[in-house]
Amino acid sequence: MADAVELIKKENLAIIQIVNPPRNVLASNVLFKLKECLENVRQDSCIHNIVLTGKGLFSTGASVEEIYQLAQMGDPAKVQGLLTQANEIVNMIENLAKAKLVVAAIERYCLGGGNEIAMACNYRIATENAMFGQPEIKLGIIPGMGGTQRLPRLIGADKALPILLSGGMITASEAKEYGLVTEVVPDNQLAKYVKEFIKSACVKEIVYKQLSDETIFETDSIKGVVENSKFPDACRMIIQAVRDGMKMELNEALALEQNLFANLVVADKARCGLETFLGIKKEPSHVKVSAGKEKKQETKQEEQNSEDDIIEMLQMTRESIREFAARRLTDVNVEKMEEEERIFPEIIQEMAQSGFFGIPFNEKYGGSGLGKTGYCVFLEEISRKHGSLATVAGAHMGLALTPISLFGTEAQKEKYLKAGIEGAMLGAFALTEPNAGSDAFSLSTTAEKKDGKWILNGSKQFITNGNVADFIIVFAQTNRDLKNAGIAAFIVERSWKGISTGEPEKKMGLHASKTVNVTLEDVEIPQENLLGTVGQGYKIAMITLNGGRLSLAAGCLGVAKEAFELAFNYASQRQQFKKSLLEQQIIQQYFAEMRAKIHMMEVGIYAAAKKADKGEDFRMEAAVLKLMCSEMSEEVIDTALQIFGGYGYIREYKIERMLRDARINRIFEGTNEIQKLDIFKNVFKNGGKINPLI
Ligand SMILES: Cc1cc2nc3c(=O)[nH]c(=O)nc-3n(C[C@H](O)[C@H](O)[C@H](O)COP(=O)(O)OP(=O)(O)OC[C@H]3O[C@@H](n4cnc5c(N)ncnc54)[C@H](O)[C@@H]3O)c2cc1C
Repeated sequence: MADAVELIKKENLAIIQIVNPPRNVLASNVLFKLKECLENVRQDSCIHNIVLTGKGLFSTGASVEEIYQLAQMGDPAKVQGLLTQANEIVNMIENLAKAKLVVAAIERYCLGGGNEIAMACNYRIATENAMFGQPEIKLGIIPGMGGTQRLPRLIGADKALPILLSGGMITASEAKEYGLVTEVVPDNQLAKYVKEFIKSACVKEIVYKQLSDETIFETDSIKGVVENSKFPDACRMIIQAVRDGMKMELNEALALEQNLFANLVVADKARCGLETFLGIKKEPSHVKVSAGKEKKQETKQEEQNSEDDIIEMLQMTRESIREFAARRLTDVNVEKMEEEERIFPEIIQEMAQSGFFGIPFNEKYGGSGLGKTGYCVFLEEISRKHGSLATVAGAHMGLALTPISLFGTEAQKEKYLKAGIEGAMLGAFALTEPNAGSDAFSLSTTAEKKDGKWILNGSKQFITNGNVADFIIVFAQTNRDLKNAGIAAFIVERSWKGISTGEPEKKMGLHASKTVNVTLEDVEIPQENLLGTVGQGYKIAMITLNGGRLSLAAGCLGVAKEAFELAFNYASQRQQFKKSLLEQQIIQQYFAEMRAKIHMMEVGIYAAAKKADKGEDFRMEAAVLKLMCSEMSEEVIDTALQIFGGYGYIREYKIERMLRDARINRIFEGTNEIQKLDIFKNVFKNGGKINPLI
């Protein structure tokens, strides 16, 4: 396994890089390795300059899971143990910074423990897209690695308090204005700037600010923040830590923070906050036993607050994908990938490092726990820019990782789901066969048990990622007499003997996404790679495809929005008959119709995603949305192309590619005709009655 922290030495420079994708969380193994690297450079008299950085992003802080595990033990002394270890590392950095030049090179997120480590360095150089913050309060806890002490000392208590009490983030330029960041540099040019900076910078003593005005703790706005907080006790502790801590020596103040942290983290309220963050569902009895009216209201308020937090996380996720798309999915890059008929591997790697592949999955495996809603946001944004990439990512996450996350054993999740989220492995899903398309379960691929192993034989058709995936979820029949009840799913590694893939199909669209046939000849599959149980294959495929249809609809929404905005821009500039197209009534009508369709799609998709995330049955919604969104999206893109006139037919204007790419949405993941059959089954089941939603 690769090291979670890498140390590179070059002449008098040492670069210490955190490599713990997707978010460079400071888990125990990272802290252990970081300490080792710091010790190494401390003892090396040749090293004068140290750059502390993180691959892809700086760090989003401590491992919430580890904190939660300690919190569950209910023993503040055990929590203190972890804090002592973590603070030792921050102190090591601070001590190093007295003798050597220590620069934090920061891109993207620098949060919680990440920010606390950065604050111990001599200088902080950040890219324009970097964000800083101490989000602990959102989990019902307080910073524990010096955040309540170093932040006010660096930027002043008046500026630090709102950051600590809100848990919100500030941008790199705000951080520079506050004095937290030394230099803000363009994205992608961090290494170059840091190299230059080191040449002229020198070791300097860190000068801390004093607490000059105690009234800042009593202002109405601070009181308001505490009163309205979901975690007022934690807020009060932050205020206490800052107010009392700033009157002490730093060491003494840090001990105060650790003590407050350890006592708070084992309290019920803090544990609830950590559970909400980790997506650990409370027993429904929790609501039932709290019979009193007040308790019910409190529970409702908590639910509302946690919903607000989720919305905030979803918004952050959308922003982060947009930022990535603007930088990496430029017209030039997308055109090049389509021409070369491949997705650049570095794009896949950056997506993994940014945590995108883990958006819907559990934190335990490196995911963000944002469920189907998060996944819809992801596919919506990626589909705006590149249908092929959305298809590749959709096959990987929605079709290959999802069934493992739902039906996999712990060992399968550890091996394939984790690696899939980290981008170390790419997945594919193979159900379709030459003679089993819409009639997807009339499979000819067989699985036979021999000497404790499964032997697979058969041929799979039109498999997205089929020739680039590291593993493929393969569906096969174990006993034809049992029909659907004989189907099983297997996790098959593509490198295994007996697997071959055909030449990629030449397609109408989605040129950068590979579609190939996969042949299996006496492929030996170990028992531990059976996914679920024999006979569960049908259920696994249906549940996976159900989620796939919903997210496919989200992709349709994304590309429709993009086409709409491109057409609006064009129509406002293009003049005909001495006025802009936008001033022509028929064109205005087009925009109104397109907007109405987009609205219907958006409302439907996110209502269904919410239902799915609550664990409710959303099969009907998925079928309806797959059917309607694939059609409406194509209509919107087609109208947008019409508004572009002849230019819409020209490649340079992108719309023609969007239309070609979107056409598949009416076909894959169950054709629209098959969706109609499913919807009619529901109609029939309800005797033609339509039950009101409310
Ligand atoms: C680019 C691309 C990527 C794909 N990726 C994957 C993948 O990753 N994994 C995977 O397993 N599959 C994948 N597929 C396969 C895809 O899901 C199938 O193509 C699709 O389900 C339709 O099957 P078929 O092509 O065999 O069409 P058929 O089933 O032969 O259908 C032909 C036509 O007849 C209609 N039809 C069939 N039965 C009925 C009926 N009972 N009533 C009314 N109309 C009917 C269909 O709707 C369709 O219009 C992909 C396909 C493409 C083109």
